[in-house]
Amino acid sequence: MTQHNKPSDIAREALRQLALRKLPPTPLNYQECYNEIAGIINPSVFPEAHLRQIALALNAHSPEQKIQLDRLDLAIGRGSWQGIETALVAFCKLQAASQDTAVAPAAALTEVPSEANQFLAKLAQMIESMLPALESDDAGFSSQVKGLLQTLRDPTVDLHRAQADLTNFSYRLTYAAEEQAEIKHTLLKLLHLIIENISKLTLADSWLDGQIFALLNAVNPPLTLRRLDEVEQRIREVMRQQEAAKGRSLQAQEEMRLMLSAFIERLSQMNDSSAVFQEKLETSARQIENVHSIEDLAPLLSDVIGATRAMADETASSREQLHNLQEKVLATEAEIAKLHLELQNASTSARHDPLTNVLNRKGLDESLVREIATMRRKDTALSLALLDIDNFKKLNDELGHETGDEALIHLVTVVRDNLRPQDTLARYGGEEFVILMPETLLNDAVTAMTRLQRELTKNFFLAGKERILITFSAGVAQLALAESSADAIKRADQAMYLAKRAGKNRVMAS
Ligand code: GH3
Ligand code: MG
Ligand code: MG
Repeated sequence: MTQHNKPSDIAREALRQLALRKLPPTPLNYQECYNEIAGIINPSVFPEAHLRQIALALNAHSPEQKIQLDRLDLAIGRGSWQGIETALVAFCKLQAASQDTAVAPAAALTEVPSEANQFLAKLAQMIESMLPALESDDAGFSSQVKGLLQTLRDPTVDLHRAQADLTNFSYRLTYAAEEQAEIKHTLLKLLHLIIENISKLTLADSWLDGQIFALLNAVNPPLTLRRLDEVEQRIREVMRQQEAAKGRSLQAQEEMRLMLSAFIERLSQMNDSSAVFQEKLETSARQIENVHSIEDLAPLLSDVIGATRAMADETASSREQLHNLQEKVLATEAEIAKLHLELQNASTSARHDPLTNVLNRKGLDESLVREIATMRRKDTALSLALLDIDNFKKLNDELGHETGDEALIHLVTVVRDNLRPQDTLARYGGEEFVILMPETLLNDAVTAMTRLQRELTKNFFLAGKERILITFSAGVAQLALAESSADAIKRADQAMYLAKRAGKNRVMAS
């Protein structure tokens, strides 16, 4: 091989040699040819970059291992294979020793899911518990959910894939939620239609009107389980009363029917006896025509008189019987009227106060039983407040009882608008109300009542054009775990009395 001195010559020759030796023109091959032609001893290429990558992949689990990794790093920097070997061997020995002494924790360590996996598993659990609320019969949706749950629970999950699946699912979820809302809306419309239909069917029963009106009001959104419970109770009441009315009406009808048939029988008997009488008279008349002497007439006359008397007796007894029947009919009519009145009273005194349409004492008692049971079962707080309108007698005296009634309705409206759905309002007496506040501590209940007072000062009661400020005094008590509702109301009543004594329009805790 000719000797080349100039680098450009060496470079040209190196390229020629690459072609002659049919070597791939890689930088490494070129370098080797170049060195050979230039007479440079070919240094073995030290793979520093690769070695550093390997070193980076190693994790130290102890300070000793960390020392070995530092030594490895140094050895790579120096290009010392000997140093690399020593450091790696020492590192591996330390690794094996730590696995020997702590096999169990190490195994456990590999089984502990990563934070991301734990989070995804929680997400899967949440989606699963949400499914019954969606109740979709769409097979596509079900299989999508199944796939998503599998992805989320896969310990080797690809986070990008999980994210894409979740995005798709959230679109479907939006549709499903919209569909659920639509179904609820349609069901409510149906319920309205049914209730209106009942009201048309029972138009004659005025006692039902109040109930039907209250029902229509109660099924207005927003619906809560508590309101639905109230609707159910009311429907049951209507059904119970309809049943009672039907039973007693049927009984009264039967009595009327029996009396009517007795009356008709009596009439036909009268008819029969008057026909016999008629016949008797006609026979006597014919005989009278053929009578020539007064002596012959005498027995005939006595026959006629006898028949007439019998007829008169018969009529008198018929009249008496008819009179009795008539009295019975009147009594039955009165009974039916009484029945209607009773039903009317039953309807209004059942569970709701007819004036304000909130629960009455009976309704309150039932709610108290339920709420106290819940309080004890769930071990939560239950507070109640007793409200008494201030100077209500004066309002009645000055503006009339009817305006007083309207003021009560106004108060109830403001209170209802400002209570939480789970709170219960009941009319305790004339101008006294009780509010049940589940899951509420005493202080929070006091705050809620003070807020109500503020709302009342913002919402004036309009008597005609006159703006009237209605205020109330309230006593608040939180039920002790074993306390009876009567005792708690008594405590609230005492606190309310103190609020009155302290100047009214204030809230006192018991
Ligand atoms: P205080 O501030 O001390 O509570 O005085 P008050 O006038 O509100 O209390 P009081 O108990 O002396 O009077 C309550 C009045 O409420 C007497 C009664 O005529 C009236 N009232 C009770 N029920 C009704 C009702 O259904 N409608 C109307 N308009 N008034 C009622
Ligand atoms: Mg009072
Ligand atoms: Mg009062």
